[in-house]
Amino acid sequence: MPTIIASPDDESLAELCGKLAARAERLDESGDWPTEQLRLFADFGVYQWFAGPEWGGQAWDQESILRGYLALSGACLTTSFILTQRDGACRRIESSTNESLKERLLPGLTSGELFATVGISHLTTSRRHVAKPVLQARRIDGGFLLDGFSPWVTGADHADYVVLGATLMEGDEATSLQATGEQLLAAVPSTLPGVSTPPPAKLVGLSASHTGQFKLENVFVGEEWLIAGPVENVMLAGKGAGTGGLGTSTLALGLAKAAIDFISSEASKRPELEPPRDGLLREWEELEASLFAAIRNEPKCTNDELRGGANSLVLRATQASLAAAKGAGFVVGHPAGRWCREALFFLVWSCPQPVVSAHLCELAGILD
Ligand SMILES: Cc1cc2nc3c(=O)[nH]c(=O)nc-3n(C[C@H](O)[C@H](O)[C@H](O)COP(=O)(O)OP(=O)(O)OC[C@H]3O[C@@H](n4cnc5c(N)ncnc54)[C@H](O)[C@@H]3O)c2cc1C
Repeated sequence: MPTIIASPDDESLAELCGKLAARAERLDESGDWPTEQLRLFADFGVYQWFAGPEWGGQAWDQESILRGYLALSGACLTTSFILTQRDGACRRIESSTNESLKERLLPGLTSGELFATVGISHLTTSRRHVAKPVLQARRIDGGFLLDGFSPWVTGADHADYVVLGATLMEGDEATSLQATGEQLLAAVPSTLPGVSTPPPAKLVGLSASHTGQFKLENVFVGEEWLIAGPVENVMLAGKGAGTGGLGTSTLALGLAKAAIDFISSEASKRPELEPPRDGLLREWEELEASLFAAIRNEPKCTNDELRGGANSLVLRATQASLAAAKGAGFVVGHPAGRWCREALFFLVWSCPQPVVSAHLCELAGILD
């Protein structure tokens, strides 16, 4: 049995990263759900990082967790990304005041027996321009009826529970339902009647994350599954999955570091690669310092600036690794090509609008 990882300095973290990296290429090519990698997370105690001791967890502080993510995401972005969605769901559940829900779900989530994920983007960054909320809730005796879909749910077809956001509606169903202005968050069991998961989307990268829609056709969700709300801006209540958090920048930096390390290994044989490697590494170290300053509440910049910087670096560092790898890097199976595709993910994943706007200006060559 592997040694449980008790700190980001443990050698067992490097051992786990080696196992993930060895499987990353095959995972990308197959697009299969990473059952084995997620089992490794359980065996190495990774799920324990996020939960309190009362649930069997180690309750790592935020800095240690991000150091863990930094290492994991350089080894395999897809499984690290799945971990962030699972972690976001667990934190939402743990920060709830629904004690019986916590007792029911958190021990299994911490040991790795259960898998939970999140479907919240329709409350934050997805489908915000459409007039009718895509996932509606109506209050009925003992709970809520949920109708509609959550557009992006990672691991939807493998989830035991999905932490879902829904918009509360009122009025006569036959005429017109109106949004009350309140929203709710619930841990919805995937086994409830009326729940379905269409086959996941084939993606430019990270297809093995099995991200797809989670559909609900008038699904009765009892009050016992409620995490928060109904309340205005339910995402501001509690902790956990949100938009553009430090975790997203951490994963971008983890992937950028893998690409920079590759350039370093090439530079040992090709000195002309040293200046670009040095420039990228300097920028990486500055962003890493900003990330940890932000965690310690001594920010050097805003979270949006950090995310914008991490996004910009990961796109350039991965493309630099491809240029360094030359034609060999363009052949399927070489990590540099995969890293380039994976870096594009950061342009769309949980990306706050000001960061998207800044990227568009950068790409258009328009300075702020
Ligand atoms: C691989 C992947 C995994 C993800 N995993 C999760 C997850 O596990 N949980 C989760 O909650 N979220 C997840 N997300 C969602 C993510 O965080 C963002 O919310 C999502 O990428 C936003 O994209 P969208 O196409 O839904 O945006 P939308 O804003 O809905 O845009 C969709 C389309 O609508 C049109 N459009 C956009 N804005 C306007 C406008 N103002 N007027 C008219 N037309 C407009 C455009 O044609 C656009 O292409 C994931 C996303 C990806 C790509």
